[in-house]
Amino acid sequence: MHKKLVLLGLLACAIGIWFAAAWLKENASTEVQIRMTKTTQDEWFVSYIFADSVTQATFVRNPDHSRIERWQPIDNDYYIGVDAESGHEFIARIDGRAFNSVAFQLEPTYVTLRKDYAPFSPFSDGGVSWYSGRFKVCPQSCSSALRFDYAFTMEAPLSDFVRLPEHSERGQLVWRESASDGQVIYVGPQQPGPAVEHGFETIIDPILPVSLKRRLLSDVPPLTQYFNQRMPHLAERPMLLASFSSTDNGRYGYQGGVIGNQMVLHWYGHSMAERITAPYFVEDTIWFVAHEFAHLYQAGQFSNDSAWIHEGAAEYMALEYLRSIGANSVYLNHRMKKASEQCLASNDKFELHYACGLLWAAEIDQQIKREYPHGLFFLWYMYVQALDEQPRSDPVDLYFELMAQLTNQEFTQQLQGQIAQRFARLESQQVAP
Ligand SMILES: [Zn+2]
Repeated sequence: MHKKLVLLGLLACAIGIWFAAAWLKENASTEVQIRMTKTTQDEWFVSYIFADSVTQATFVRNPDHSRIERWQPIDNDYYIGVDAESGHEFIARIDGRAFNSVAFQLEPTYVTLRKDYAPFSPFSDGGVSWYSGRFKVCPQSCSSALRFDYAFTMEAPLSDFVRLPEHSERGQLVWRESASDGQVIYVGPQQPGPAVEHGFETIIDPILPVSLKRRLLSDVPPLTQYFNQRMPHLAERPMLLASFSSTDNGRYGYQGGVIGNQMVLHWYGHSMAERITAPYFVEDTIWFVAHEFAHLYQAGQFSNDSAWIHEGAAEYMALEYLRSIGANSVYLNHRMKKASEQCLASNDKFELHYACGLLWAAEIDQQIKREYPHGLFFLWYMYVQALDEQPRSDPVDLYFELMAQLTNQEFTQQLQGQIAQRFARLESQQVAP
């Protein structure tokens, strides 16, 4: 009897320890303080403070290795290196010793990062928007079991407003983030205005041509209405940031992105005046904005491996919107033709997600429309709604499940086969010399 009690007691202790360990594993977190500073001379610095000392801090996002060139350590004892195995950039001391803090001077100019958001988007009035995800590091390594909390501070001259959605201060703003994607922070002279009718908080570069600014603002209400009629409504008031930076190397273009409830549109080139006279500039712009609108309503349901799902759908939704407003059909046919050619011949995976993605989205839409008039939008309505109610580890499977419900098994399987085949062909092309 006595022995039994001891055994039971030991068992209870073991269970208790097991629960405590599981709780700690779930809840153990460490804080990283990230302070971004813009001086009155328009110099930018970022500094890190770690709760415990580290011998290395690894960056969370690594689209390329450009930090090595663009970030200057304030203290020459530090450097940015690239891990040979993972290809991830990291911060360390030259002598390999541990450290608690480190700082860098930054170059707040526009660069396009493939498959990632631009770190800085300058506005012509001296404002800048920057992307917080670019600056997140994991103390030691990102494979640690710890959860990371980021305490951000943005310090700017008092003449500047520091703005996040629904959150703005003059000169300084503090906020916290988890290890998730990040947000875009605006720092500059534009103060928050009164809430406008269409419900967007807008920060628009004054240098954008009047016609484009007017176009942007006049397109927001019909686009909002169009998507509201077809997709689950946005949970929070979105923020639209539109900026322009000039280049002197002949490069021009535009790049957009949606991060949470923020939509970022950036144009770059020699001059905007020259760009707006290009053929189909208006149609291109509406397509670009409608594509980003689609992402906003896709509510963060983005899959990196199957990017054709959200990119192709965004392309198709843009096409449908332009059709609905009676856009030039020569332009629309040209876009479809270009997508067909690229989907057939391109060796670039990134390009296939957009080009083939558009064609596949069109096929799905056509099938669904046999029964449901909103076609692809209806699939996305169900998909966003289902994932909002219950997040899943395999959203791509859910996408096909819902597709089969709205069309049929045969169509869905045939399409899946077609997609798998196209990507397999790409891989065999890449292996070939
Ligand atoms: Zn996109």
